[in-house]
Formats: sequence, C-alpha cells, structure tokens
Amino acid sequence: MRKKFLITLFTATVSLVLMSSLILNTYAASQRDIDELNDKKSQAEDELNSVNAQMDTAESELESLKSQVAEVESELARLNTQLDDLNNSIDTKEAEIKQEEAEIEEKDDLLKQRMVAFYELGDTSYLDLLFNSADLFDFLSTYSIVQQIVEADTALINELEEKKAQLEADKAELESNRAEVQTVKAEQEKKSTELQSLQAEKEQVIDSLSEDQKALEQQIQAFEDAIDEAQEEIRRQEAANNAANGKYEGSFEGVLEWPLSYNYNIITSIFGNRTAPTAGASTNHGAIDIGVSYVPVYAPASGKVILAGYVSGYGNYIKIDHGNGYYTAFGHLSAFNVRAGDVVSTGQQIAVSGNTGVSTGPHLHYEVYIGGSSKGYRVDPLQYTSHPSLIYH
Ligand SMILES: [Zn+2]
Repeated sequence: MRKKFLITLFTATVSLVLMSSLILNTYAASQRDIDELNDKKSQAEDELNSVNAQMDTAESELESLKSQVAEVESELARLNTQLDDLNNSIDTKEAEIKQEEAEIEEKDDLLKQRMVAFYELGDTSYLDLLFNSADLFDFLSTYSIVQQIVEADTALINELEEKKAQLEADKAELESNRAEVQTVKAEQEKKSTELQSLQAEKEQVIDSLSEDQKALEQQIQAFEDAIDEAQEEIRRQEAANNAANGKYEGSFEGVLEWPLSYNYNIITSIFGNRTAPTAGASTNHGAIDIGVSYVPVYAPASGKVILAGYVSGYGNYIKIDHGNGYYTAFGHLSAFNVRAGDVVSTGQQIAVSGNTGVSTGPHLHYEVYIGGSSKGYRVDPLQYTSHPSLIYH
C-alpha cells in the first residue's frame, strides 16, 4: 500500500515536476516518457469521464428536486389562498351571528315590554278591560289579540334563534375545514423543508464534483503540456544530433587542460594494460581513472560535443571533437551540462562526474583519441594534458 502510494507519488510528481529538470540536466526526453505521460493523461481522462457522468446524474436529480420544491410551493400558495378565503368566510359568519344576536336581543326586549305591559294590565286593568268590554266576547277577543301578538313575537324570536344556530353550525364547519387545511399546510411545509435540504445537499455534491472536474482538467492540461514539452525536446535532440554530425570547425591548439579542479589529483587507474581488471571492464585500459565523486567536469579544450548519452559500460558518456583529429571522452558521469552538437570552450563545465555504467565506485574515466574518434587510437591523456602533481593509488 505504502509502496504503491510512493510509486504513484513518484510517477505523478516526478514525471511531471522533474521531467523538465531531467531534460535540462540530461536531455533525456524519450518516446518512453511520452508514452508514460499519455497513459497518465488517459487515466485522468477516464476519471474525468466518470466525474462528468456523476455530474449529469446529480444535475438531473437537482432539476427533479427543484421542480418538486416548486410544486410544493405552489401547493402552499393554493392552501394559503384557501385559508384566507376560509378566514374571510368565518369573519363574515361571525358578523352575521352578531347581527342576528342584536336582532334577537331587540325582539326579546320588545316582547318583554309587551309582556310587562300585558301583565301590568293584568293586575290593575283586567277588570277594567273586562268591564269596559262590551261583553264577554269582546273581552275574550281583546285578550286573544294580545295573546296572539305575544305568540307571534315568540315565534319570530324562535325563528331568529334557529337562524343563529344555523349560522353557528356553518361557522363551526368552516373552522373544521380551516383546521384540516392547516394540517395539510403543515405537512406541505415539512415536505418543503425536507426537499430544500435535499436540494442544498445536492448542490454541495455538484460543487464538489465541479471542483474535481476543474482539478482533472488542469491535470490533463499539465500532462498535455508535459507531452508537448517532451516532444519538443525530442525534436531539439534530433536537431542537435544532426548538427553534431558536422565536424568541429576550429583547430586543436595542442594543449589539454586538466578536466577537474586541480585539487582532484588522485589517479586510481593508469593508462595501459590492467592485470586484475574489474569484472566487465577492459583489460586494455585506454584511459586514466581519476578518483572523484560527484564534481564538475570541464572541457579540456574548445571543441564540439559529438556525443552526450548513455553508452554501455561507460554509463553516461561525453565525447568532444577538438579539431585536427583530437578527441577527448569522459565516462561514468552522473549528469550532463551539454548536449550533442554544442560547441564548448576550454574550462566550460560539461558534466558532473559519477558512478554510472560499469564502475566500482565514483570516478572520472578520461580518454584521449588521436586520428579520429572511432578509427583513431587512444593515447595516455597525461602526455597531452597539463595536470597537477599526481598521487597514485
Ligand atoms: Zn577507466
């Protein structure tokens, strides 16, 4: 798990970040780098497609939630209108009931006055009424008229009471309707709250997916840029290789400077036959080995770099054409500061020494050719090279 993480970290970070610095240091862009970058880019594109699909789903879910919210909101508006109507009807009924009550009170007062008048009359004037009546029939008739008036008043009051009772029943029904509508409204409000919270959650999911999309798009763009850069670098290398095919136009002055700082003066292997060579190393050592670790290597004379790359056995290897058939070469390098085709001047840093190829430990393998880089022969560099006093190990 940790290893996988480290590998992922390495390939993702190093191939992107170090890509450019590797190119600058070693000019080592290759088709393999481009293939790797294309693989990574494809992975990012697959991921982006998956995020896009999730986004489509989330967006259509959000649309559905929004239309549900709108539906509930319009239902709530309808319920509010209904409630307003019911409240108005209830107010109207209440007003009508009050009016009815006033009318009943008024009629009741009138009846009471009549009754009082009648009974007062009863106490003091029944006999008068009786005696003033022409006859018994007249008296009974007068009495009957009064009684009829009282009965009519009572009937009217009863009718008003009934009407009031009906109004109150109507009002009670309206209130029960209102309670039902309020229950439905409360349910719809709860539903609306739930839907709105679902909508907010969905919007958050969409925001986060949108960030993922942006990040992946940037990643894909970064891979594309790195691929472009690597392709451009390969083109530059090809151009440099073509340029390197041309010979150095300058001429060799006859002196090779020491290719290192003068304080690096330990010779670990001299030029000539070796009695006990390291496995894989040549018995005929056509070079000198200088014992250094990772230090700058300088051009021993002006010339043109004709090779800067990996060579089996030599590791990272540089060969320089100095003109007039003189060449120098350096092996086991850890990094390049020049590329094939570059024209260099005496003392210019060309590389960093190291331990690449077949090597028992960090050292600089230094060769001098005369008569051609491949058809010529190698000579002891010390014979042609100004050098510090040397220590042999
Ligand atoms: Zn050597």
